[in-house]
Amino acid sequence: MTTLFATKSSREVIRLLEQAGYEAVFVGGAVRDFVLGKPATDIDIATSAKPEEVKALFPMTVDVGTAHGTVLVLMDGEPIEVTTYRTEGTYSDHRRPDEVEFVTSLREDLLRRDFTMNALAMTKDGELIDLFGGQRDMAHQLIRAVGYAADRFNEDALRMFRAVRFTSVLDFTIEEDTFEAIRSHAPQIQHISVERLKAEMDKLLKGVNPMKAFQVIQQTALASHLPLFPENIDKLNQMVPFETAIEGWACLMLAGDFSYLEVANAYKLSNVEKSFLAAVQQASMRRSSGLFTVDDYYRFDLEVLLLVEKWVVILVNATQTVSKDEITAAKQALPIQSVADIAITGKDLMAWTGLRGGKWTGEWMEKITWLVLHGHCENNPNNIKEWFVDEFKREE
Ligand code: ATP
Ligand code: MG
Repeated sequence: MTTLFATKSSREVIRLLEQAGYEAVFVGGAVRDFVLGKPATDIDIATSAKPEEVKALFPMTVDVGTAHGTVLVLMDGEPIEVTTYRTEGTYSDHRRPDEVEFVTSLREDLLRRDFTMNALAMTKDGELIDLFGGQRDMAHQLIRAVGYAADRFNEDALRMFRAVRFTSVLDFTIEEDTFEAIRSHAPQIQHISVERLKAEMDKLLKGVNPMKAFQVIQQTALASHLPLFPENIDKLNQMVPFETAIEGWACLMLAGDFSYLEVANAYKLSNVEKSFLAAVQQASMRRSSGLFTVDDYYRFDLEVLLLVEKWVVILVNATQTVSKDEITAAKQALPIQSVADIAITGKDLMAWTGLRGGKWTGEWMEKITWLVLHGHCENNPNNIKEWFVDEFKREE
C-alpha cells in the first residue's frame, strides 16, 4: 500500500468535487514536498469547478480571492485552498497578471506555474501527474522554469527570487537556461514589492543552504537590484547557516556593514525584528572593544550575546573568545536580570522619604540597580534601605 497523500479532509474535498462531476487534484508545494519526502505545508487543490460552483458544493467556505479563483473550504474544521484552473493574462508590470482567465484543462493551469517541480499534480489516490518532467528535474535537484524561462521572468519577476529561495530551502541548483534568464532579467526584481521580497528572504534565510542562494544573488547581479544586500559575500560564508530568519538578517547587517535602520527600512522589518537588530548592532559594537562587561550581560538578551560571540572572530579580530556555556553562566550569575528583580520598588522609596513619586524615583531605582548589579549592595530591602536613606540624605 502506498502512503496516502495529504489529509483525510483534503481527500474528501476532492472526492466531493469529483462526485459532483468536476476534476480536482492536489498541486503546488505540497506535492513537491511529498515527492521529496518532506512534511507538507499548505495544501492546495486545483479544480475545474468555478468558484461559485465550489461555494455551492460546500457548506463552509470563506472567500479569500474569488477574483483569482481561490475559495477556502473548511472541511472538518481544516482550511483547504481550492483554486479554479486558470491561466494568467498579460503581465504589463512584471508582477501581477492584468487578469486571470478560468480554463477547463489542468494542463493549462500547470503551464502557468513557475518551476517544473511546482507544476506537478497528484490525484486523491496518490497518482502523480507530471507533464513537464518535474520528477526528472527533482531527481537531478534542478530548478527549471516551465516553458521559456525568459518569458516567465518577464511576466513575473518574483519568480526569479523564488528560484533563489528554493536553492537554499531545497539545496537544489538552478538549471542553466533558467539561471541565464535570471541574470538577464535581474533589474526587473525592482518591480516586486518589498513585502514579497521580505517573505521570500525569510524563507531563504531559514533554508539549509543560504550560502548557495547568496552566491546566486551575487552571480546573477540580483544583488545590485535588491533593496539592500552586502557587496562582499565572503564573510557570509563563515556565518551560515542560521537557526532563525532574524539571525540571517543580523548576519546580512553585520557582514554588509549596514546599520540596523538601513536593513529594517530597506525590507520593512517588524518592530520586534528591528529592535533585535538594534541590540545585535549595539552588542557587536561593545564586543569589538573587548569582552562583554557586567553591564553588557545585564543589558542584552542571552540570544543577542550568544549570536555576537558566535561571529566575533569573523567580524572583529578578537583574540579571545568566550564559550556558549560561559556566556550563559555569566548571564545567569548576575545578581539581577532586570529592574523587576530589585527587592524594592518605587513605592518603598516614597514610603522611606515621605515624598510623592516622580522622576526622582526612577533615577534612584537606576542607581540602586547599578549598585546591586555590580555587587556593591545586596539585593534585599534592608541593605538597600540602609544605603538609600544615607545616600538620599547626603544628596539633599
Ligand atoms: P511553499 O512551500 O513555501 O509554500 P510553494 O511552491 O507551495 O512553496 P506557494 O506560494 O504556496 O509556494 O504557491 C503554491 C504554488 O503556486 C507553487 O508551487 C506554484 O505552482 C504556484 N506559484 C506560486 N507563486 C507563483 C508565481 N509567482 N508564478 C508561478 N507560479 C507560482
Ligand atoms: Mg505552498
